[in-house]
Amino acid sequence: MLPLELPTAAVATGAGLAAGLAAGVFHPRVMLFGPGVWRGPSRRRSVALTFDDGPHPHYTARVAELLARHRARATFFCIGRELERHASLAGELHAAGHQLANHTYRHGTGADLFHAARLTEDLRRCQEVLLKVTGATPRLYRPAVGIRNPVVHRAARTLGLTVVTWTLAARDGAFPFTAARAHAMAARARPGSILVLHDGSTQARSALREHTLASLPLLLEGLRARELELVTLDELLFPSPPGRGTG
Ligand SMILES: [Zn+2]
Repeated sequence: MLPLELPTAAVATGAGLAAGLAAGVFHPRVMLFGPGVWRGPSRRRSVALTFDDGPHPHYTARVAELLARHRARATFFCIGRELERHASLAGELHAAGHQLANHTYRHGTGADLFHAARLTEDLRRCQEVLLKVTGATPRLYRPAVGIRNPVVHRAARTLGLTVVTWTLAARDGAFPFTAARAHAMAARARPGSILVLHDGSTQARSALREHTLASLPLLLEGLRARELELVTLDELLFPSPPGRGTG
């Protein structure tokens, strides 16, 4: 079934329609099938660094160590299955002031994306693990591989989750995060930007993750040089009004 509201240009031709649908499914800034967030407010000079697919026993703690060295806090979109396996690691992230959010329980990109009840159950399972680790029910959800369709939005709505994509992607799941990419990302970031990298990997050891770790300090230094403060997504999206404490 097609969504009712398609851009006029996309309806014009079959190819245009396919392109429009692909944009809606994949493009992080196109929310064709439901509400979502790809950037935060730009009033303050804040950006949110996010890490997907962890926790990973070999890489997550090293990412956290680099963040601590740069006094930066980040948001980790965790895979529920990995959270269960590395709960103490996740607990350390939470204790260090980082935010943990839902990146599905099993990171399914097949049948899960076509059955709302099945995806809802998967997300609920991840919510339960996150609740155990952090003591709070998360409200942010990044779909696996950033894919959005009506099922993704329906499941998010059922659980009261806000769908979050990103403004800038390191694309370090497919390409080495080189020094040049780190510099470019720091240069392109704007107040309110949401940046995505990866701390997780399907492998025990990953050359791509080593690149991420090697260039992460360059990104952190580049953002600091531009006086952009690194905050969690909650702080970026739901800032407390000036002059008021968090109580
Ligand atoms: Zn992922």
